[in-house]
Amino acid sequence: MKTLAILGSTGSIGRQTLDIVAAHPERLRVLGIAARNVETLAAQAHQFKPGFVGVASDVGDERAFPAATTVLWGSRSLVEIAVHPDVDIVVVGTVGRAGLEATVAAVRAGKRVAIANKEPLVMAGAVITAAAAAQGGVLLPIDSEHSALWQCLLGEEKASVDSLYLTASGGALRDYDPAQLGAVTPEQALRHPTWSMGPKVTIDSATLMNKGLEVMEARWLFDLPLERIKVVLHPTSTVHAMVQFADGVVKAQLGAPDMRAPIQFALSYPARWPLPAGVEGLDVATTEPLTFAAPAPGRWPCLDLALRAGYAGGTYPAVLCGADEAAVDYFLSGRISFTRIPELVAGALDAHTTGDALDLDAVVAADSWARDYCRRAVEANA
Ligand code: MG
Repeated sequence: MKTLAILGSTGSIGRQTLDIVAAHPERLRVLGIAARNVETLAAQAHQFKPGFVGVASDVGDERAFPAATTVLWGSRSLVEIAVHPDVDIVVVGTVGRAGLEATVAAVRAGKRVAIANKEPLVMAGAVITAAAAAQGGVLLPIDSEHSALWQCLLGEEKASVDSLYLTASGGALRDYDPAQLGAVTPEQALRHPTWSMGPKVTIDSATLMNKGLEVMEARWLFDLPLERIKVVLHPTSTVHAMVQFADGVVKAQLGAPDMRAPIQFALSYPARWPLPAGVEGLDVATTEPLTFAAPAPGRWPCLDLALRAGYAGGTYPAVLCGADEAAVDYFLSGRISFTRIPELVAGALDAHTTGDALDLDAVVAADSWARDYCRRAVEANA
């Protein structure tokens, strides 16, 4: 029996993690859940009977929760639940920077951390991997591409690895003429061709910012230099990732585009369990032909910006994440156009000057600075 804490339990990853818990009650139990949506949290608490619930806000009625559940309030509740001594695996399904402090705390507490929320690793990968090495914490990827890389690398020696390939569907707008992108609505950009995900990551998929963040995520998870992590367009998302080895051989991992498979593998590893009822595996005989292409230079400015921030290092990846999260919020609320997203992120990277010291405080300060930069830029143009 493995005991879980699920951060962001009401979001897309959190709800799918609970689907897996419900399918494997003899293997998994939930000690704590945490999120911001009080009503959904209360319903989950009645169904899964966790000992602890963290409400990541200060508003809500404690009487909505079961009497036996301890309710913790405020954003610190994520940290308290993540480091609880009885927790074996912390599932980080939060969005954007929300999971940063809890991820760092869980790794420092020596937990197994199944991470779907990529921004904490992008922003503070050096802090998190150093803490994992020192305290014995283990990072288990949930992001489908990184789960695929992990599976391709099982049983291989690191010295044999030449390059990692992350596949990108191209997102909802891949077939649009670049001249049309300025007029794209949030509804159009949210129509992802293959994956069903939350709004932030779906917009990041339409800009390919998501793939840029994933390059940095892979760098920290697998300890390889950025220049050996490549992006390839693959419209059907059947191949989730590939590894090329020193002898030129390429191993690929294929699967249906359903996040429950990589979530479950992070929880079942090293075993493999049957998928929950109703979740289909890949039908190889009926799958679409597999095609791959390099991204056209200049077509995806957010991918270029992410790589620029990754190579710059220091606090630049935190600036990238803070600016992107702010810009995506402005786009979703109708305050800026789709093509303003890379303009705001580029403006923040241009204006930022980084310090040498990269600790958690510097990361948090850079993220806040970038959000503030975007707010001022948007207000100046309003
Ligand atoms: Mg992904």
